[in-house]
Amino acid sequence: MPLRVNLHHLADHEVVLEGKLPVAELDIETLDPLVRLGRPLRHKLTVEQLEQQLLVRGELELVLECECVRCLKPFPHVLRLEDWVACVPLAGEDTAPVEADCVDLTPFVREDILLAFPQHPLCRPDCPGLAAADLEKANTQSGEGPGAASAAWAELDKLKL
Ligand SMILES: [Zn+2]
Repeated sequence: MPLRVNLHHLADHEVVLEGKLPVAELDIETLDPLVRLGRPLRHKLTVEQLEQQLLVRGELELVLECECVRCLKPFPHVLRLEDWVACVPLAGEDTAPVEADCVDLTPFVREDILLAFPQHPLCRPDCPGLAAADLEKANTQSGEGPGAASAAWAELDKLKL
């Protein structure tokens, strides 16, 4: 079911669009190799016409296949926009294209879905990751132990004198 609404249907009542949109229709290219799309976009939207614009409200949900930036583990990330609202202009410079009396809502959905993408996907907020373990090891192996600290204090003592 495409995300298109027929303006004739909107003339006297609001229209509900509910279903799944194949992710290919969404036409999102992710530049981030840690975020992949595969599953369809679920949507439940109410569209009403107000003067020279459409008011679209509802829910969007897209499950992304992410890889954790810290531990590289794959995990699903549920991107959910509740109370999503979009205004689709039907007049003026930014007027939405109308094809066979239908307006395609996909570009508006695409834009906000992209904005909601995780910037640094984490399998869980406190994931210690691989890097943390490596860093601890590196610290104990390098000379940054208690010896280095006391050398620094010795330098400070010299300054005080
Ligand atoms: Zn992780």
